[in-house]
Amino acid sequence: MHELGVVFYVVKDVKKVAEENHVEKVSAVTLEIGEVSGILHDYLTDCWNWAKKKEPLMEEAELKIEQIEAVTFCEECQKEYPTVEHGKICPYCGSENTYLLRGNEFLIKEIEVSD
Ligand SMILES: [Zn+2]
Repeated sequence: MHELGVVFYVVKDVKKVAEENHVEKVSAVTLEIGEVSGILHDYLTDCWNWAKKKEPLMEEAELKIEQIEAVTFCEECQKEYPTVEHGKICPYCGSENTYLLRGNEFLIKEIEVSD
């Protein structure tokens, strides 16, 4: 259900932008999705293909997904490392005093329109 919620959010946002810009057809929407956001790309695409049929504005819109790699920062040694590989523990100094720098985001990067 998470993915469906995401799709509804995107559809709502795209419609708003399209209306503001007097766009009649959206041809593609590009999303940036963090590696550890928990969003499944395949399922998201399925939800998209189902939801877009209900919106004349975007019934032909293709969903493009760009993944953002998750990076964690260690406050102990001030280094960055890949989150998926090492989790919460810094591979350089073993500290757990770390936080996620990026990789949990979900953004609409681009909306393409038909001519
Ligand atoms: Zn460290």
